[in-house]
Amino acid sequence: MTATAKQAMSPTTAAMFQDYVIPNYGRFPLSLVRGEGSWVWDDQGNRYLDFFPGWGCNLLGHCPEAIVKAVQEQVAELIHVPNTWHTEAQGKWAKLLSERSFGGQAFFCNSGAEANEGAIKLARLHASEERYKIITFEGGFHGRTYAATTATAQPKFHQDIGPLLPGFCYAPFGDLDAVRNKIDNETAAIMIEPIQGEGGIRLPPEGFLQGLRQLADEHSLMLIFDEVQTGCGRTGKWFAYQNYGVEPDIMTLAKSLCGGIAGAALLARREIAPSLRPGMHAATFGGNPIAARAGIATIETIERDGLLDRAIALSQAFQAKLDPLVEELPFVDEVRISGLMIGIELNVDATPLVGQCLERGLLINCTQGNVVRLLPAMTLTDGQVEEGCEILIDVLRQFSP
Ligand SMILES: *Cc1c(COP(=O)(O)O)cnc(C)c1O
Repeated sequence: MTATAKQAMSPTTAAMFQDYVIPNYGRFPLSLVRGEGSWVWDDQGNRYLDFFPGWGCNLLGHCPEAIVKAVQEQVAELIHVPNTWHTEAQGKWAKLLSERSFGGQAFFCNSGAEANEGAIKLARLHASEERYKIITFEGGFHGRTYAATTATAQPKFHQDIGPLLPGFCYAPFGDLDAVRNKIDNETAAIMIEPIQGEGGIRLPPEGFLQGLRQLADEHSLMLIFDEVQTGCGRTGKWFAYQNYGVEPDIMTLAKSLCGGIAGAALLARREIAPSLRPGMHAATFGGNPIAARAGIATIETIERDGLLDRAIALSQAFQAKLDPLVEELPFVDEVRISGLMIGIELNVDATPLVGQCLERGLLINCTQGNVVRLLPAMTLTDGQVEEGCEILIDVLRQFSP
């Protein structure tokens, strides 16, 4: 049954959350039980088309066959061993990532924030002693640990939790002069999402990333790309920076890295990587055999099924459907698309649209209050694009802000 009028979720589940789970998330009153590709089902048997699967983690859709198989095999062989040992899987995973990016070396961990912590530490370890400052960008998002939260230049995430980590300064996204003015003798690195995700699918202005590379080279700074949301094929290239002809010194990955399994990585250029010397950083579960097998299977699936090209084709289909909305609807300001990162910016509050689409059986996201965000799977069918866009466009047309 496709979702129309919603029944409430199981009262037992609701009660357990009410009593025992810290309410730090805004949650929909739905309990999800099963997923397949871009479909997901709740515990009442309602089916939803998911244009935001796993908050960007499920780039291959829900429960991709190759990931399920790799994990099932691995979990019966060896679940976890610490990084005092080698595993073939972790070595192979690092090799595959290195070969598809800039030939560096990998450190594995479990979440985007943790990868960014590692990147910040590495940048400071590599820089000469007096250099410790990191320049990040307004509207950016880097995660919720203290260093990552501090790097996240959005005041709403800084309220009441200070003091933050010293040594961060913020520049407007896209403003090269502002960055230049912030660089001094204590600057160690520039850290940026090549395309801002949580910030509202903001694409870098022409020449901006190249300009950052140049500044970093002139002043011997590390250029860190946080590709937690943009990486691993999301934009139709392996990594978003490959759309702009600029290479970072350090790159962080998580979200879709392991096809929905938790896993994260930091890649660093070979000259820099050894600065993360033994004893200075670690993650107990980092690069564990299950994440590694899932990570390998993710890369192999994307290549075997030609999903980078498919992502571009899907992107064009979304673009063709959504671009005309700017002309048609006065409250739609802009449609921004890079591969399967899709943002529709309204000049009014867009949050009600999420519930309205949910009522019609379509899962979407709203970020920054006024940007409808879609991070759909590369495995969407043409029919699913049609069906989902029809609902979304219909809901937008009936929207009276
Ligand atoms: C989601 C996200 C993070 C944080 O990742 P976690 O796994 O939640 O720690 C960091 N950076 C970017 C760009 C993200 O989108």
